[in-house]
Amino acid sequence: MIAAEILTTGDELLRGDVVNTNAAWLATRLKQLGAQLCRVVTVGDALPALTGALAEALPRCQLLLVSGGLGPTADDRTTEAVARVASNLPLELHAEALDAMRARFARGNYPFTPNNEKQAYLPRGATLLPNAHGTAPGFMLRVGGCLVVCLPGVPHELKGIFEEEVVPRLTAELALAPALVHSLNVFGLGESQLDHRLTDLLQLCDPGGCQVTLHYRTSFPENRVLLVVCPGEGGEPEARAVMERLSAEARARLGRHVFGVDEQSFPEAVVGALRRCGASLALAESCTGGQAADLLTSAAGSSEVFSLGVVAYSNEFKQRLLGVPQQVLADHGAVSRECVEAMALGVRALAGATYGVAISGVAGPSGGTPDKPVGTVHFALAAPDGRVRHLHRVFPFDRLRVKRLSAYTALALTLHECRGEASLSGDLFEGRWAPRASEAGR
Ligand code: ATP
Ligand code: MG
Repeated sequence: MIAAEILTTGDELLRGDVVNTNAAWLATRLKQLGAQLCRVVTVGDALPALTGALAEALPRCQLLLVSGGLGPTADDRTTEAVARVASNLPLELHAEALDAMRARFARGNYPFTPNNEKQAYLPRGATLLPNAHGTAPGFMLRVGGCLVVCLPGVPHELKGIFEEEVVPRLTAELALAPALVHSLNVFGLGESQLDHRLTDLLQLCDPGGCQVTLHYRTSFPENRVLLVVCPGEGGEPEARAVMERLSAEARARLGRHVFGVDEQSFPEAVVGALRRCGASLALAESCTGGQAADLLTSAAGSSEVFSLGVVAYSNEFKQRLLGVPQQVLADHGAVSRECVEAMALGVRALAGATYGVAISGVAGPSGGTPDKPVGTVHFALAAPDGRVRHLHRVFPFDRLRVKRLSAYTALALTLHECRGEASLSGDLFEGRWAPRASEAGR
């Protein structure tokens, strides 16, 4: 495998003013492209620091990605530093780069100041990497056994040039064998449950000549399982076969907790499931303040399946808009099975929707009682055949997380119902979000 390093530059990174997202993004792309990232170094803008870091990295790797310092100002010194370490190559004006820059300035009607010309000077022999997203072009230069790729620091420019100009050249120049990456997107299982269920997956699925790894990425309250297969002698066909085996086994073990794969988001999965079963949804929210509706409508096409969202925060409007009986509120309170069931039936009738789903809880930090501690949330789903599913959870989180997890839970109930995976127990969750014995009844 190709040994790669990343050199990110800029005083702002060392000061902590800017988070080094370029390093993380490039690292992910290198992994996917099948290069082995061995080191990430950050230095400031000073020329000796840059030349020092370059000179150290060059003999260690076959690919060096450099970010930042290609701009027009005096503190942008990457080009000069690369030319120096490449046996003091002269900088030469690249007519093509200068023309592209002048044209860009003319299109945007900005004045072209002389310092901009500096960006069109590249070390002799360098390949220009045109920048369709900004002014400073990147460049690529072979220095001894190492291919040095210099990219501007502005993240969207770096990403644009990398995808459009660097990837096609890298695959050709370095004979990279891109890794296959497949993601299983999960809700309701924590990282330790995932790990427990998948622990021997890699041993059981014969990897052939491929190198196989498993990673977890959490973005509360979702978890993603990333399966990465780097091809060996058998090339891509073997890697694909290994990925299929791994993915099938992982899916079987994670079951209904997998809501989607690869880029599919949770709201997209819910909208897709509603659409496939020809159903519509209406939401009645209390403690989530509309977050379930917000989450659902972040998916394109949600208007085809989502008809009404009501945020009924006060008891008065739970009664007036959703028809919750006054007696239910008096006997059981707003955070109760009886109340969410009435809310779900009420919003379903109001909208004429296939499903009505309701949420009411105590998000905290105050308002908890011994029987309804902070984090207590009730959910109900009213279905066309008159069934009403109820779920009761006590989430051990702060206010914002309780709200977010509750919005997800309400939509997960809907997803499972549409997929025909519904059951009345609290089996949406396993691990620390699962019901404790004391909660199991209601
Ligand atoms: P410019 O033409 O804008 O000067 P440049 O190639 O010289 O581009 P820098 O001056 O190093 O790049 O950085 C430009 C901006 O990009 C910085 O102000 C910072 O906001 C952002 N940036 C730089 N490096 C990184 C990084 N590693 N991660 C995230 N953002 C970065
Ligand atoms: Mg700059």
